[in-house]
Order: sequence, then C-alpha cells, then structure tokens
Amino acid sequence: MKRASYHNHTVFSDGADTPADFMRQAVAQGIEILGFSDHYYREGPGAQTAPEWALQPRLDERYFENIAEVAAHAPIEIRVGLEFDWLDGSAAWYEAPAKDPRLDYAIGSVHFVGKQSIDTDRAFWGSLSPEEVNETHRRYWLAVRDMAESRLFDIAGHIDLCKKFAFYPSEDLTPIIRDALDAVKAADMVVELNTSGWAKDCRECYPSDAILRACFHREIPVTVSADAHRAAFVCANFSRAYDHLARAGYREIARFRGRERFFESLEP
Ligand SMILES: [Zn+2]
Ligand SMILES: [Zn+2]
Repeated sequence: MKRASYHNHTVFSDGADTPADFMRQAVAQGIEILGFSDHYYREGPGAQTAPEWALQPRLDERYFENIAEVAAHAPIEIRVGLEFDWLDGSAAWYEAPAKDPRLDYAIGSVHFVGKQSIDTDRAFWGSLSPEEVNETHRRYWLAVRDMAESRLFDIAGHIDLCKKFAFYPSEDLTPIIRDALDAVKAADMVVELNTSGWAKDCRECYPSDAILRACFHREIPVTVSADAHRAAFVCANFSRAYDHLARAGYREIARFRGRERFFESLEP
C-alpha cells in the first residue's frame, strides 16, 4: 500500500513549514503521496481578506503555483487540496473555489457554530452550561449535515471535532449524528481518520469508535490524515490508524487524484 497523507497545513495558512519542507519530510518518512490542504475561509462572495490562520485571497494563485513547483521536483506524488471552512450559507460562495479544476480533492470541515470557533478555545467550552454544551454539539452536527448536503467536498474533515476539549453532551445525539452520516453517505464523501485527536484532550482519533463503526456500517470509505501543522508530523500515528481501521473492519482506503477516487488495499 502506498502511504498517502492528504491533510496538511503549510505557511500558506496556519502551518509552520513550507510545502517544500513537507515534501522533504514526507520523503524521509516514507510517504509516497503527499497532499496539501491549507485552510480556506471566506466570509462571503468576493471577500478580500481572510483570518491570519487561513489562506489569504491575494495568495490563492501563489498557493497553486508553489505546490506545482514543489511537485515538479518531487520524487513522490504531490496532490493539491484545500480544507474549506464550512460557515452558515457558505455553499453559495464556496461552489466555485471548491470546484477549482486544479484541486485533486476538497475537504469540508466544520470549525464554527454560528460565529463561534469550537476548536480553538477550551475556555469557551468551560463557560457553557450543560444545556449550552448540548446545544453546541447539536448545532455542530447540523452544520456537518449541511456541509455534506452541499455536495461540494470529497472528504469530511475530523468529523466529530466537537469533542476535542472533552466536553461531551449529556443527551443522546445518536439521531442527529445518524442524519449527518446519512448525508455524508448520500453525498458519496469519504471520512478521514484524523490522527490529531489522539494528542488532544479527547484522547481519541476523529472519528470515535462508535462513529467509525457507523461509517463502516454505511460503507462510507475512509482515508487517513494527520492534520499536520508541522512537517515532522506528516504521518504521525499512521500505523496506529491503519490498525485501528482494520479492527473496525475496513479493508481498503481511498486515494485522490484530479477529483477522482481510487481504492487501495489496507494490507501493508
Ligand atoms: Zn480542521
Ligand atoms: Zn486541518
């Protein structure tokens, strides 16, 4: 099996290293397919600015050019993607960039509930009442469903990110999560096993075992990603992730090129 890493952040968004740095580390660590997915966040159509942690509109072209330059000299396969930050109503202005023919894949991720970031501030979660925690989880999963129903994206990023700081709902959200997974399936999307969760307060990868089993039950394909913000972490915990997927029943893994999806056996 070719080791592939698709969810990586460079200096074009909130990563610490350049695409060339990532390529060198990927080669050193035995990655054969390396993809980039810097944050794409726009608050409306034609937005001229983006938050400092996201790809700046003035650098859109440079992003694709720089990765093409790296690809031209790389001894491994290079892919270009983006991690689109789902916002209320954003389907309208993400349609064109998500369909950019230069992209090999597009990741759809929910980091915001309304205007509130849910994955950057532990204190936000700490300030919520139990009912507000429930409400935030509920709204998160509704946003995941909406993101999938937009049918703009190939991969659902860190699908249960709302657990990151280990503030869990006290009510059973199974029906609403089921609706979101049904939407992911209906949109023919892939779910990533994102290894970064193992190092967070929640101490488990995204998605949880229960959600991964629900994905397997629906025959939703999977990929493995590190969500690396430093080149050194480009395949952090990948062996553990492959074992985890095999234990959940998965026998193959999805690959991306030019918006086409391929499958490869999980066998080493
Ligand atoms: Zn993300
Ligand atoms: Zn990411």
